[in-house]
Amino acid sequence: MAKDWNTRTKLVHEGIRRSQYGEVAEAIFLTQGFVYDSAEAAEARFIEKGEDEFIYARYGNPTVRMFEDRIATLEGAEDAFATASGMAAVNAALTAMLKSGDHVVSSRALFGSCLYILEEVLTRFGVEVTFVDGTDLDAWTAAIRPDTRAVFFETLSNPTLELIDIKAVSDLAHAVGATVVADNVFATPIYSRAIDLGADVVVYSTTKHIDGQGRCLGGVVLGTREFIRKTLEPYLKHTGGAMSPFNAWVMLKGLETLDLRVRAQTASAKALATALDGHGRLARVIFPHLPSHPQYALATTQMAEGGTMLAIDVHGGQPAAFRVLNALRIFTISNNLGDAKSIVTHPATTTHQRLNDDQRAALGITPGLIRVSVGIEDTADLLADLRQALDHA
Ligand SMILES: *Cc1c(COP(=O)(O)O)cnc(C)c1O
Repeated sequence: MAKDWNTRTKLVHEGIRRSQYGEVAEAIFLTQGFVYDSAEAAEARFIEKGEDEFIYARYGNPTVRMFEDRIATLEGAEDAFATASGMAAVNAALTAMLKSGDHVVSSRALFGSCLYILEEVLTRFGVEVTFVDGTDLDAWTAAIRPDTRAVFFETLSNPTLELIDIKAVSDLAHAVGATVVADNVFATPIYSRAIDLGADVVVYSTTKHIDGQGRCLGGVVLGTREFIRKTLEPYLKHTGGAMSPFNAWVMLKGLETLDLRVRAQTASAKALATALDGHGRLARVIFPHLPSHPQYALATTQMAEGGTMLAIDVHGGQPAAFRVLNALRIFTISNNLGDAKSIVTHPATTTHQRLNDDQRAALGITPGLIRVSVGIEDTADLLADLRQALDHA
């Protein structure tokens, strides 16, 4: 496909593999296997598989391949491997390359399941993991050692929207030959160019903005052809984390509208954050492109726009936050994000319930904090809904 196409064009046309019927919409190849013309052809395919040749859906499938090609061009990566969920992607990206005795440095502010993989799973197999405050470059400098094999972080953290300086941390990691793995879910591929800034491997939960309409679980790992085909594929194809062809088709169609949706959601998120900043019932409003964000300078250089997420901290703690949540009419209480529907989450009692009070406090997860994922509804309706709910705080 044409290299000079802009994002929206690529998101509609990139990666299409038409069958002999010349269908307009991408076909769903809902098949686990593929037939060979002869015994010799089967043998040849097992020795070396061509671009348009498939063996078994756990290894790859035409619909899944269309999705992988399309998202790889969006991210500016050489190759991609789609997975059953975002967690399958995070787990495979790390486990495929690490072995007992390796050292990993990770930011501490992580999605709960990412923390589980680093803290509980990898360490059980003899990988040493050092956690740092991801916003503190001195902490990264002190933690990264000559034997550090990988560095892991979420480019924009959940739920307090702290940024990692991707370029600076990647430079530190590369100085010792470590591989940088970045979870770019919150920042989205539209606004955060993690590979351009130095990340070697980027992972997404496609469950979030890429589906964007709350239907399917999915994930993807992006990186160099060498990493994806030599390190990741052997691990994934034998351990079974493949994306289903039907889910790949949903994600492929999700990519077509990703740029339109994320831009609309981001414009609303910015309008809501700006309008609510300084509201009498709120202790703080967190949004990367608000000048009051502690990393505003980095946020405006690293992210073209502030993204689809914000967080509000209601005066009066959990009881006040619950009153606000229960008074909302358009925003639904759920724990997904990046969806067409606006969603609110109370991290302290749901996604981060497993942590103790001190751990939550260290991450800035106060009892009054509400995470807001802004959808594609009308901005004025969303603002009116938040305002009337805050009156109940
Ligand atoms: C949701 C999420 C994941 C996990 O993705 P699933 O598709 O739910 O497995 C990983 N990282 C981040 C930052 C997420 O928000």
